[in-house]
Amino acid sequence: MRSIASRMSVMSGEGALSVFARAKELEAQGRSIIHLELGEPDFHPGQSVIDSANRALLQGKDRYCAVIGLPALRQELAAYLARTRNIDVSADNIVMAPGCKLALFLAMMALLEPGDEVLYPDPGFPGYESITLGLGAVAVPFTLAARNHLQPDPAEIAAKITPRTRMLITNSPGNPTGTVYTDEVQRAMAELVVKHDLWVLSDEIYARIIYGGEYLSMLRYPGMRERTLIIDGFSKSFAMTGWRLGYTVAPPDVVEALALMAVNTYTCVAEFTQYAAIDALRDRENNTAFMVAEFARRREQFARELNSVRGFHCPLPQGAFYAWVDITGTGMTAEDICRILLEDAGVAAIPGAAFGPAGKDFIRFSFASSMENLHEAVERIQEVSTAWQGTAAVR
Ligand code: PLP
Repeated sequence: MRSIASRMSVMSGEGALSVFARAKELEAQGRSIIHLELGEPDFHPGQSVIDSANRALLQGKDRYCAVIGLPALRQELAAYLARTRNIDVSADNIVMAPGCKLALFLAMMALLEPGDEVLYPDPGFPGYESITLGLGAVAVPFTLAARNHLQPDPAEIAAKITPRTRMLITNSPGNPTGTVYTDEVQRAMAELVVKHDLWVLSDEIYARIIYGGEYLSMLRYPGMRERTLIIDGFSKSFAMTGWRLGYTVAPPDVVEALALMAVNTYTCVAEFTQYAAIDALRDRENNTAFMVAEFARRREQFARELNSVRGFHCPLPQGAFYAWVDITGTGMTAEDICRILLEDAGVAAIPGAAFGPAGKDFIRFSFASSMENLHEAVERIQEVSTAWQGTAAVR
């Protein structure tokens, strides 16, 4: 009998993509929509990156190439990680993949057995739960609660560790909350994973997008080298979402497993994009700093203006480009508010439950949009906010 494999019924889609689809439908009907739903920088890579991709294509760099990635790119990445994250890894620890999502998926596939328990943040990137379940593993969320300033609580994580726990997923700065984990929290999590001999999957895709302070990678804590996989890529830090460039930093035995995964799936990452990635990392035009400075300006304005909407409370995100707004003060559900925002105000945003049950009283707005768009979005929200009875947050 023909059927779809049962694992597909436990995997899930992404709230952002379904809101985007509805927003596009409304646009096709002639409505004006301000898109604050997708996690995509509204920037493009610099001219030197485009030139480099063009040059590579003209030179015929469009062949199958090294399975784990071009040595020149992996060397450049090792230098980049030392420079920007103060971690000491070699090119041999790095495996290129077509995007972080696939890097994440294959890393989890390489390390998890059915029945293994995986700890991951709630609210968090939807893939963590979906991939866990798809692999027949057990999803064990830990909460990023407002009372803990949206930080993981190491005591909660400790209480959820069992003999079946295999992996801890961390994501700092985090999607959707914008939380940058504190040194203290990370140190405590590192001690726990050493004590229980767990894998750590540290999703550091937003590492470059922080608003002050030095970035602390999970790899920097004692005992982490042999158990930590860093997932990162070019989508956010270099505004290269559609180029599909990601990578995993891993211990040697895991690199071997990931190489086998690559052979069995994507063979290699497109050669010409890898040449362009070398230029992106060198960042001669200072594009990343420019983009992050712009995000910082928007963050201030957007959070301030959102806090003037009745019933909204938006703490300043410490990293990434998301405003994570607590809407408890409105007396309405996040789903109802998002529906009103999209259908009546033309502002696309995502109800927090799309990121896990702990997100149910929140809405995520991406501020990867111009200052003018963000300002207009809040004006439109103000106009429809008569639909709810909350009072303006005074903070
Ligand atoms: N991890 C997190 C936390 C993300 O927010 C995203 C994208 O939104 C990804 C991974 C996937 O990124 P990529 O475009 O490299 O597949």
